[in-house]
Amino acid sequence: MANMKNPVKAIHAFCVDCMGGHESYIKTCTTETCPLHPFRMGKNPYLKREMSPEQIEEFRQRMKHYREVQEQKKLKENQYE
Ligand code: SF4
Repeated sequence: MANMKNPVKAIHAFCVDCMGGHESYIKTCTTETCPLHPFRMGKNPYLKREMSPEQIEEFRQRMKHYREVQEQKKLKENQYE
C-alpha cells in the first residue's frame, strides 16, 4: 500500500486486507454498516455523472487535444536530450 495517492484506491487496498488478502472476496462483503462499503470496489459511486451525447463528444475532443499536447511536450523534451 506504499505511495498510494488515491484515497478510494487506498480504501480498496484496506478492504483487500480486511478480506484476508483476497481481492475477489471484496464483492461478497455483506457488512453494509461499514462506512467503507460503498467504496470497497475502488470506485467512488457518488461521482457518477450523466452526460449528453454532445457533452461526451466535447469531452472526447478535449481529451484528444490534451493527448496531442502531451505528445508534443514529450517530443520537445526528447529533442533536447
Ligand atoms: S467494506 Fe468494511 S467490512 Fe467490507 S471489506 Fe471493506 S473494510 Fe472490510
